Amino acid sequence: MAASLLRRDKRSAAASLKAECCGQDGRGAQLLGELLDSVLSPERAVAEAEVIEWCKCLMAGGESFDDFCKMVRGYDNATLCGLVWTANFVAYRCRTCGISPCMSLCAECFNAGEHTGHDFNMFRSQAGGACDCGDSSVMRDSGFCKRHRSATSSNIPSVPNELMMMSEHILPRVILRLIQHLRDGYSEPVSDPATERDLQKTLQLMEPLISLLEDLTKMGGAMRSILTRVLTNHQIYKDLSSGDHCTGEKTYAKKNYEKYLAALKGSGLVSSEERSVTSVLDQMAGASNVTILGATAGTGQMDSSDEEEQDGSQGIGKRKRVKLSNSTKDSSIMDILKHKCFLEEILFWTVKYEFPQKMVTFLLNMLPDQNYKIAFTKTFVQHYAFIMKTLIKSHESDTMSNRIVHISVQLFSNEELARQVTEECQLLEIMVTVLLYMMESCLIKSELQDEENNFHVVVNCGEPLLKNNTYWPLVSDFINILSHQSVAKRFLEDQGLLQMWMNFVSFFQGMNLNKRELNEHVEFESQTYYAAFAAELEACAQPMWGLLTHCKIKETQEYTRTVVRYCLDALQDWFDAINFVDEPAPNQVTFHLPLHRYYAMFLSKAIRCQQLDLDSLLPDQEMLMKMMVHPLQIQASLSEIHSNMWVRNGLQIKGQAMTYVQSHFCNSMIDPDIFLLQICASRLDPDYFVSSVFERFKVVDLLTMASQHQNAALDTEHERSMLEGALTFLVILLSLRIHLGMTDDEILRAEMVAQLCMSDRTHSTLLDLIPENPNPKSGIIPGSYYFETMLSAVADFKAPVFEPGGSMQQGMYTPKADIWNQEFDPIMVILRTVYRRDVQSAMDRYMGFLKQTGKFCGNPWPPYRERAPLNPSYKGLMRILHCKTLHIVLFTLLYKISMDHQNMSEHILCMALYLIELGLDNLPEETVEEEEMLGEERCSDSWFHGTNIATNLHHIINYVRVRLPETAPEVTREPPASTSSDASSFVQSSNTAQVFSLVAERRRKFQEIINRNSGNAIQTAAVRPKTSKWTAPNSTPQLTTTILEVRESMLSLLIKLHHKLSGKQNSYYPFWLEDSESTSRLDPMQQIHGDGITAVERILIKTAARSRQNKCSIEEICRKVAPPVPPKKSSSADKKALDKEERRQKARERQQKLLAEFASRQKSFMETAMDLESPDSDVAMDIGSSEQQDAETVYDCVICGQSGPSTEERPTGLVVLLQASSVLGHRRRSTEPKKLPTSDEEQIYPEDTCGTVHDVRITDLQQYFKDSSCLQSVSIGWEGGVYVQTCGHTLHIDCHKSYMESLRKDQVLQSFSVDKGEFTCPLCRQFANSVLPCYPEKNEEKSIWTPYSNKNLMTLIKEVEEQQEQLGMFPSITNLSKEMESVMKDIRSTTQKKYIDYGKTPGSPDNDFLFMYSVARLNLELELVHRGGNLCLGGASATTKRSCLNQLLHVLAMHMRLFRIDSAYNPWTRLTQLTQVIDLGICDDEKPEVPLLYRDVSSLLLILVLTMPQELHKEHFTCIVKVLYNLLYTQAIATLSVRFSKEERTAWKNPRKLKTMYNSDKSWEVLLSHIICELSKGKLYSASDTDQVSMLSTSAWSPQSIEYSIQQFCLPFLRTTSLLQHHLFGDDLPSCQRTEEEFGMLASYLGLLPPSLQSSDEVNSSSCLEWPIAALDIISQWCLEVTTSAESHSEQVMNLLVQDPQWSLPCLLQLPENYNTIFQYYHRKACVHCSKVPKDPALCLVCGTFVCLKGQCCKQQSYCECVLHSQNCGAGTGIFLLINASVIIVIRGHRFCLWGSIYLDTHGEEDKDLRRGKPLYLCNERYKVLEQQWVTHTFDHINKRWGPHYNGL
Ligand SMILES: [Zn+2]
Ligand SMILES: [Zn+2]
Ligand SMILES: [Zn+2]
Ligand SMILES: [Zn+2]
Ligand SMILES: [Zn+2]
Ligand SMILES: [Zn+2]
Ligand SMILES: [Zn+2]
Ligand SMILES: [Zn+2]
Repeated sequence: MAASLLRRDKRSAAASLKAECCGQDGRGAQLLGELLDSVLSPERAVAEAEVIEWCKCLMAGGESFDDFCKMVRGYDNATLCGLVWTANFVAYRCRTCGISPCMSLCAECFNAGEHTGHDFNMFRSQAGGACDCGDSSVMRDSGFCKRHRSATSSNIPSVPNELMMMSEHILPRVILRLIQHLRDGYSEPVSDPATERDLQKTLQLMEPLISLLEDLTKMGGAMRSILTRVLTNHQIYKDLSSGDHCTGEKTYAKKNYEKYLAALKGSGLVSSEERSVTSVLDQMAGASNVTILGATAGTGQMDSSDEEEQDGSQGIGKRKRVKLSNSTKDSSIMDILKHKCFLEEILFWTVKYEFPQKMVTFLLNMLPDQNYKIAFTKTFVQHYAFIMKTLIKSHESDTMSNRIVHISVQLFSNEELARQVTEECQLLEIMVTVLLYMMESCLIKSELQDEENNFHVVVNCGEPLLKNNTYWPLVSDFINILSHQSVAKRFLEDQGLLQMWMNFVSFFQGMNLNKRELNEHVEFESQTYYAAFAAELEACAQPMWGLLTHCKIKETQEYTRTVVRYCLDALQDWFDAINFVDEPAPNQVTFHLPLHRYYAMFLSKAIRCQQLDLDSLLPDQEMLMKMMVHPLQIQASLSEIHSNMWVRNGLQIKGQAMTYVQSHFCNSMIDPDIFLLQICASRLDPDYFVSSVFERFKVVDLLTMASQHQNAALDTEHERSMLEGALTFLVILLSLRIHLGMTDDEILRAEMVAQLCMSDRTHSTLLDLIPENPNPKSGIIPGSYYFETMLSAVADFKAPVFEPGGSMQQGMYTPKADIWNQEFDPIMVILRTVYRRDVQSAMDRYMGFLKQTGKFCGNPWPPYRERAPLNPSYKGLMRILHCKTLHIVLFTLLYKISMDHQNMSEHILCMALYLIELGLDNLPEETVEEEEMLGEERCSDSWFHGTNIATNLHHIINYVRVRLPETAPEVTREPPASTSSDASSFVQSSNTAQVFSLVAERRRKFQEIINRNSGNAIQTAAVRPKTSKWTAPNSTPQLTTTILEVRESMLSLLIKLHHKLSGKQNSYYPFWLEDSESTSRLDPMQQIHGDGITAVERILIKTAARSRQNKCSIEEICRKVAPPVPPKKSSSADKKALDKEERRQKARERQQKLLAEFASRQKSFMETAMDLESPDSDVAMDIGSSEQQDAETVYDCVICGQSGPSTEERPTGLVVLLQASSVLGHRRRSTEPKKLPTSDEEQIYPEDTCGTVHDVRITDLQQYFKDSSCLQSVSIGWEGGVYVQTCGHTLHIDCHKSYMESLRKDQVLQSFSVDKGEFTCPLCRQFANSVLPCYPEKNEEKSIWTPYSNKNLMTLIKEVEEQQEQLGMFPSITNLSKEMESVMKDIRSTTQKKYIDYGKTPGSPDNDFLFMYSVARLNLELELVHRGGNLCLGGASATTKRSCLNQLLHVLAMHMRLFRIDSAYNPWTRLTQLTQVIDLGICDDEKPEVPLLYRDVSSLLLILVLTMPQELHKEHFTCIVKVLYNLLYTQAIATLSVRFSKEERTAWKNPRKLKTMYNSDKSWEVLLSHIICELSKGKLYSASDTDQVSMLSTSAWSPQSIEYSIQQFCLPFLRTTSLLQHHLFGDDLPSCQRTEEEFGMLASYLGLLPPSLQSSDEVNSSSCLEWPIAALDIISQWCLEVTTSAESHSEQVMNLLVQDPQWSLPCLLQLPENYNTIFQYYHRKACVHCSKVPKDPALCLVCGTFVCLKGQCCKQQSYCECVLHSQNCGAGTGIFLLINASVIIVIRGHRFCLWGSIYLDTHGEEDKDLRRGKPLYLCNERYKVLEQQWVTHTFDHINKRWGPHYNGL
């Protein structure tokens, strides 16, 4: 029965089957089953076309499949878009509308929604995604597009059963077939490429089937719900999957099922009891059930990696992995999978096949079905561990990661779903377990601290898992689910989870340990630190920030408490594990302390938001002391690294130091560290803390009052820098308030100010530099509203300015003046600088501000800032400022500086003063007086009595006992009389301060604390450090003790320093003593800006204000006459040295001046050379045209420096750049700019461009006329002509040759290729590629300007004719002529052959001739364009570029004179005489000559001028111009007559005025009438009357409009002719005010009008006519030429006769305002050549052609499409907009450069590669610049970064 069905037509079979199925007896179902058995038989290929066809037909049940689809779609009740996309898809994200940060929209939904003014961006999807439109759990309803907002399921009718019935029957079998295929095709990969290919083949085979399923998912909700039922139904799966359902092929089905079981087992996914049953064989093979990592797969993985180690793979090799046995893990999570429905098995196979794209898309396309989404999410979670295990093993983990996240983001972004699977499927346990499992695979023994007794384990950052970031998808999922409040709550409440998590975090604690190299430079700079920093940030910090967002209110206190508790436990375990006692091991540092940072950040939250008591969360003192050590070690190491003490570890250690503070890491690393240190400082004994700091920075030995010391820990060269580091650290510690009381707003402001003070920033740089407040709900997200308002509060916007020739600027933000004045905070700058130079840059900018505003003119000190108030919990921090240890250090430093001891610096003084001032501003609460009362002596030393800085400042220290080397100068001194030599017994005298050992002090305190804590004396034994490196008092026998007389207090030292700084005796005098009125000076904050003197004064004022006693002390000190400091003597030797120095100085200055001069000279050359609009360029630079009349022109050679004339023997040449150009060919008639098409409707037609029009014309001419004549009737070069330009510098040609030779030998990489003759001008560095010889000036008289020579026109015509009769003379072969030939060769080879050979016989001399005069034409026309298209402005016109036209014309003329035009065809004869030439042409078999009326007059002029055999006299030039004007005028009238309507022609044919009227030769009416008569003879007009030419004509012609049109017709000729005359004879160009005057002005300039006729007069074009013979006769002759030949080409006659020489200026395409318009249309447009969507689409901005950049698809003979187009469209120059990057590239010949972008965002910034995806708008100024560079051919000069493109663009 089924067999018969198979033979039937599918549709009718389906119809009848459907009818049967509707019956009750079930016969239909059985029949269908049988049919399917055969259709879906495993013997057939899984997805052959026939099978797919059957499936479609059966489902449609007799309908056509398309109709069926339509019907089903009618029942679509889905309200979600759900469009699934893959990598590289362009999507949108709107932060205003998004609830989840992962929200994304497809372009269609985005554009159809309302997001104007929202904070959105476009992005290129990395991993793929799906559209969230319509999903209100992810985004706000207001952002839904119209389609998905209105759709509600209510108005959709329910689906009729009958429609879907067949699908319900068929789909289970289809899916079963799919699964069978997957089972069959699978084989375990044995790292064998063959199997890999097999898997690919399996996937390929089933592709049509998957596509069918995908099509089904797109049919809407109705079909998706059927699919869901099939996929999730347990019964269906049970019936079908094991093969029990069918009888016929039981054996196959069974085997197939066994394959599945084998795969399951092979993946180690069978529960242990099942395994014990089935794995007897395995056990025999030796694979036991290992419990170490649970899964056999896990051990397999490790084994394979161990093999790698033996292979010697670097980095990992050295350390042995550690295997942990961890009991916390639930093996059921890792090892068991049981499938109960199709969906589960499909996912299993999807994983096995490593997420094939098609399968992923199918699975995701189903997501809009809610039931499916839940089922799928659960399935996904069930397979989670398995997925990650597969990922670790994958060879292509990157692709797989992306696919995984593509799926998981869709599932876990939804809070409700995430919560559900967390509760029902243990999602959190699974994730944490898998994370642990993953990291456990790469653990090594930690070597931190006690290498031998260390049992801590850390991840090995050299492992691929970390290096390749393989853990990323997992961590990203984890962070994603923790962002949901309900899930995070679950996590925080589960102590088991927390414990596991801390366990996980501790794997990163102390990883990537650095050991300082002391002897040799490391051989191999390991780059593992990238992996380490990335891992801490992503795996530790990000989840931490996620958790912290949920601990923000008082109600969540308990969570914080728990986390803190587990954190402390973990820390305690860690200290135990590394066997830490109290001192860090020397010379090692790790930047990774995630446990410390967890602890710190939860504390910060607790105090700030949850009102918890800090002390209740703190551990005991001992623990605090331990916790302080490692963060402090990092701070000291930072200083060491910057002091170059780690140079032997290579650059990477600097990289670590920089990364640690860099904006993306600082808030997860340095900030928590500083905060933790602040907490420790606030709770620990201040003396202990301070001495620890100095000890850790290794500067203890330096802190002696003695002038010399020994330093056991530090080389002298590092002392100063380390001391600066220590003091700076203390200042930061005491003034930073980020976690101690600043609000989010204040933090953001401070960050912004710091970054802006370092440098002006673009908006995006700033965004990147401001550390993101990791709390996303705080509202301080970069880019948010707060950010923008804050930015406008602190900064001014500097719009991008464009300097011609300069670099392209972007919009910048710069600090407001008030910010410099009040908020510039050097401490914040230091904290945030990655590069040390940024601190200096900020200070320089600050100094600039002070100078500019007149606030201070010296070298300012960093301004002191008052700080935000401390949160009361941290008040203890200020005790640091009031401890004796610090005061002793400060006293010592002030003393040392005042005594000029070694290794002190201004920075040290500055920081010391900063600390004193901080102390004064943060006095302890008990009053000063009280403190003074307390003067008890409980200390062993006698430095200070109390701890209050205000008191200690005036405390006088008389004597200090110091230990110092015997060589020190103090040693020889007699001890003061009052001291006995036995110093140790001198305790009683309170006036002698003791040798103060910081280290001893710290030890003592430590001991105290320990004893207090434990009360156990045994501990003290452990305290003794093994490392005795830190000052062992008696280890250095050279040290001796001596007593130093000091007799100073800090106050007296300060005043001394004031004198020292000011360089004056007694410079300080307390103002209150001299002038009691100056109360304004009482406010110390008025004196923020200034140098050290200001700072000292400010401190003294504050001191005086804080205590009366201080005030008295100051007065006392100042009244005492300070002992005069002897001024430095200058002996005679000194004097000599001084003189010498002075001389040297002067010489240096001279040298500098010379250099500067040279530089500015060079610069000024460059500026003028490139600045096209500079009005002041020197006319005298116009070489060759303005030489003096008497002297020969003298040229300077820029190479040898000699000057002289250019001679035949030793010619001089101009440095020139030859380039092919098609700019003029792109001109169009219409002045309306061409728009870039942005839709399929718009099109660009190239028909009306100058290049095309001329091409058509020459082809037409060649069809009917003699080729050689044609080639003299037009100009070419509109496309691919050669443009010659010069920088104006000259050189001897032989000098140039040796210069080129030296360049060739030069090994330095050049951006130009010397082999192609390229070089840069030795003087101005402009790009050049040839040298144009300068023609020696003949001393013979240059015809002086005689407007009307006495000779009459007829005589001149004869003279011209006679000269033409002379044979062209070959020039004698001289060096000059050789060079002229060689440059001609260069010119020819500059362009492609196709642009030279226009003749029918390639290579004929006619081609060359045409090419040469066209080069002249092109250069004239281009100059005209550069002058703005007309000559109204004449010589004063904007473009007074150095021209080399005169020299060029000489070269061209020399070559053209070699050609001789056959006198029979000489146009001159036909222009000036009545002849019978025409007959000649006709009787021949040959084609006729081109009629004169068809010829291009400008070309004729150039031919005549350049072929004159000797130097042209001006009168002859004028004669030629006059003759040609007559022809031109006739052409104008003829053209006009064609444009007339028939009626008008009739009217004008018989003018009222008679031909006999006076001067009828000069009457346009007469001439017009005559021409109409003559041309009518040839039935010429009859063609035009029907033609559209007349249709275009203006409605009615008046005499005025006729005159106007004639003038317009003639003007282009007059302009080029004037330019030619200007260059040939050097006459200045005239100028005029109004455009109407241009005609008359040029006519008189050219001698067509008598000079008496001034241009202001109304000029009539006909008055310029001067006929040598009867006008009407010669016109008749010209017309006859046309009419006789018109028969043969009646169709073209109109086009040929009508010439329109007017072209608008060349311009680039007009672009839309908004970049999105371009992007949306072009980024998915297919190329017309390869019909694919290019990976890198590009757009020609000249003609709009769309090309595949770099595409292999459109490559032709190794030329990629872009390069190819640049040759065809621009003769080697191309301007392309890269669609995906918004950037312009310019191709010039074999080089290219990235030009920049013409689209900027609202902040005036480029967005290269559209990384930010913010809206971009056209920057018209930049576009104008681009166009300008194109038109003026200056790309080579202005743009700097050129590189070869090897035709690969
Ligand atoms: Zn959408
Ligand atoms: Zn939508
Ligand atoms: Zn929006
Ligand atoms: Zn020279
Ligand atoms: Zn130059
Ligand atoms: Zn183009
Ligand atoms: Zn293409
Ligand atoms: Zn292509």
